[in-house]
Amino acid sequence: MACIFCRIINKEIPTDIVYEDKEIVAFKDIHPVAKVHILIIPKKHIESVAKLKSSDIMLIGKMIWQAKILAEKFGINKTGYKLLFNCGKDGGQVIKHIHLHLIGGQKLKNWPI
Ligand code: AMP
Ligand code: ZN
Repeated sequence: MACIFCRIINKEIPTDIVYEDKEIVAFKDIHPVAKVHILIIPKKHIESVAKLKSSDIMLIGKMIWQAKILAEKFGINKTGYKLLFNCGKDGGQVIKHIHLHLIGGQKLKNWPI
């Protein structure tokens, strides 16, 4: 069976999608840790940062660029935000389809968290 984020991409699981193009989907996290918590994922299934290939560099750049645009759309570009890739067991990655967390809308804990 396809992974949960692939099923979201295929519209088999409903989510609050805030951006979509031919390579990327962004949607609201189901368990937000802050007022704004959006996940940006590639449509291509890549397990984690650890599985990236050099041919994925443009795709990852696009994901970060889209986080920047969404931060503007959600009005947090001036107040600031965190961008986070959890990777692997020690990194706390639960869903094994690479995703970029965009978190903001309130004062966040100081690094390190
Ligand atoms: P991570 O710990 O980096 O793997 O984060 C996975 C994130 O996916 C968590 O913040 C979850 O709340 C989120 N999540 C899991 N299932 C869904 C879903 N169906 N729709 C939206 N977000 C989800
Ligand atoms: Zn997947």
